Amino acid sequence: MRNPAPVATGLYEKRRGVFPARIDGTFRRLKWAIMAITLAIYYGAPWLRWDRGPYAPDQAILVDLAHRRFYMFAIEIWPQEFYFVAGLLIMAGIGLFLVTSAVGRAWCGYACPQTVWTDLFQHVDRFIDGDRNAQLRLHQAPWTASKVARRLLKWSIYLVIAFWTGGAWIMYFADAPTLVREFWSGQAAPVAYGSVAVLTFTTFWLGGFMREQVCIYMCPWPRIQTAMLDEKSLIVTYKDWRGETRGSLKQAAKDPGTYGDCIDCNQCVAVCPTGIDIREGPQIGCITCALCIDACDRVMAQIGRPRGLIDYATLEDAAKEKAGCPPTPHRKLIWHPRTLVYLGIWSAIGAGLLFALGTRTHIDLAVQKDRNPPFMVLSDGSVRNAWTLKLKNMERRPRPMQVALQGLPGAVMWSDAMGRDEAGRTLAMTVPADTVLPLRVYVAAPAGTAEQAFHFVLAATDAEGGGDRTETRFDAPRDDDDTPGDHERADHERGDHEREEHAR
Ligand code: SF4
Ligand code: SF4
Repeated sequence: MRNPAPVATGLYEKRRGVFPARIDGTFRRLKWAIMAITLAIYYGAPWLRWDRGPYAPDQAILVDLAHRRFYMFAIEIWPQEFYFVAGLLIMAGIGLFLVTSAVGRAWCGYACPQTVWTDLFQHVDRFIDGDRNAQLRLHQAPWTASKVARRLLKWSIYLVIAFWTGGAWIMYFADAPTLVREFWSGQAAPVAYGSVAVLTFTTFWLGGFMREQVCIYMCPWPRIQTAMLDEKSLIVTYKDWRGETRGSLKQAAKDPGTYGDCIDCNQCVAVCPTGIDIREGPQIGCITCALCIDACDRVMAQIGRPRGLIDYATLEDAAKEKAGCPPTPHRKLIWHPRTLVYLGIWSAIGAGLLFALGTRTHIDLAVQKDRNPPFMVLSDGSVRNAWTLKLKNMERRPRPMQVALQGLPGAVMWSDAMGRDEAGRTLAMTVPADTVLPLRVYVAAPAGTAEQAFHFVLAATDAEGGGDRTETRFDAPRDDDDTPGDHERADHERGDHEREEHAR
């Protein structure tokens, strides 16, 4: 028998248009609320002001790339404190795990930017073209002048939203009112125009046209989430034991006892923003927005049957319910051991960051030792090492500070601004406001001093006080290096350096 000819199938399936119907209900209202809050935060946050005094920006949330600062209300993060940002990113990641563990893919269904902007664009569709059936008719209609006009109007609105979205993004990186003036007068940096152009295009394209394809094919998060879901995770579930066999009200009336509660009205499919049929079981295309629950609850109310044919449920609870047990209240399903573990980790990181923020001082000392040469033997036999100290003053006023040696008996230090004859155990200086002040420091220890660790101690000498302390290492010649040949060569090489020092 001959093998049948292979059937050619493409790897790419053409997108079927999704025209979700308008629906009202508990979850739709929740989506409205979350959409309003998230969009208000995104568009409005750069315009919030926060008084930080005369020498700092007054924008509440600002990523100040030019001055390498991140401001969030009373918090100011310097580049050296990037661990705070890293901590926040880790919290955001664990927060997503926590939300997924507690309430399934709620992030996808309610708060993900792709979901929020797609929802916004779908409302524009309904506003311009009408509800689902009108949109379907227009989609299938030939390209008449009226259809072209409607499309141009709709895409123009998309473009305005997309441009506003891209424009809002750059406001987080510069003073918003100033940037708006510069942008429209053509004086903003080219990167500002480029960023707005890129974000306008991506918002227009991803929200206006790609929509559910981003969730189903492009975004990695649904894959990660589906790997995280287990029998205790809340998902949107069609209760087939209650709904099947499907049949219309007429069929059910003719043949009582044969049909379940699902009257096969397809309302759950019609409202779905990703165009799937939840009655086929859990699937990656379901973002758990719960609009199908609203649709089905409304149908059940109309035909006088109990709500919840489609509902949030865990697989474990669904199995129990199928066996005849009453459904477990949702609030009880949220709390299970995995959720508590995530909550514990998330809270611990948050508490750690808050503690670090609350206890950090506004001055800081970093030391960098000269590596080449590690030491020099001076003409009087004493040994000298050199460092670059960085004194950080995070306050908006100059602060008097003192650097002291702790340990290293008999050693003295001096800086580029003074001679060795003025050397002592401490150095005093004023660090300008909001500055990292570099300071070259030379430390000389008596002849015979061995290699050892010691500390530089920084202290603010004003009423506010505070300080920092950093350990470093003093290098000196070792006894086993002390051969005459080495010594001579070292003396010869070091002579030039010494002469420079004495000249200084
Ligand atoms: S909305 Fe409810 S009754 Fe209608 S098809 Fe969907 S599951 Fe069945
Ligand atoms: S199946 Fe229901 S919950 Fe899932 S995406 Fe569609 S409407 Fe939302």
